[in-house]
Amino acid sequence: MNKLQLQGIGMTSQRTRGRLVERLKEQGISDQQVLDVMGGTPRHIFIDEALSHRAYEDTALPIGFNQTISQPYIVARMTEVLLSEGPLKRVLEVGTGSGYQTTILAQLVDQVYSVERIKPLQDKARQRFSLLKLRNIMLKHSDGGMGWPERGSFDGIIVTAAPEEVPEELLQQLVVGGHLVIPVGGSRGQMLRLVTRKSETEFKTEVLEGVKFVPLLSGTVR
Ligand code: SAH
Repeated sequence: MNKLQLQGIGMTSQRTRGRLVERLKEQGISDQQVLDVMGGTPRHIFIDEALSHRAYEDTALPIGFNQTISQPYIVARMTEVLLSEGPLKRVLEVGTGSGYQTTILAQLVDQVYSVERIKPLQDKARQRFSLLKLRNIMLKHSDGGMGWPERGSFDGIIVTAAPEEVPEELLQQLVVGGHLVIPVGGSRGQMLRLVTRKSETEFKTEVLEGVKFVPLLSGTVR
């Protein structure tokens, strides 16, 4: 991809991103750092060209393999919730997908560890990170329902696909005081949850809002 595409054909995409940020504010996103990063990140490079004219609509869009890039509002909301108690060093993301959420996080925390089960999606995301010169992202091709035990514990964990129940492995890879942001539920409806590890054995769960994510699936795709 050349520089022009990265900028988004002239100035239009910067202006459109400004409008996106205004909409996010109206929807209640208030963390200025998150708003700045959302406004400065070119979402169109995470989407196939045929759909890239819709990149700054506040909607999820297909990225192939039956998966979607998350809606900007939900990316902003999950990031804001994850960072609500200050900056984080090490964050695990389950479900790299297009790499859009990863890219937002990588500009706000020291190190992002991101796991994806579909190899071709991971490969594309890796190219985007290198195009954007993001060097604090570590990728793994595996079933992220297991977390990334070799790299844990994590100050924060964000899951961008929905399991029916919170995987125990993820809880165990959270530091005490750490936050897990995760959509939970099946096709009949999902709720975004914020789980905080209070001690070795105690977890507090807050239910935030209704969401719609693709399911968290087990196993990997080559
Ligand atoms: N954050 C991504 C969202 C992609 S959709 C984005 O903004 O583009 C969710 C992603 O989770 C998909 O790419 C899907 O393949 C992946 N996924 C689903 N179950 C998974 C699992 N068990 N481990 C790792 N990734 C998983």
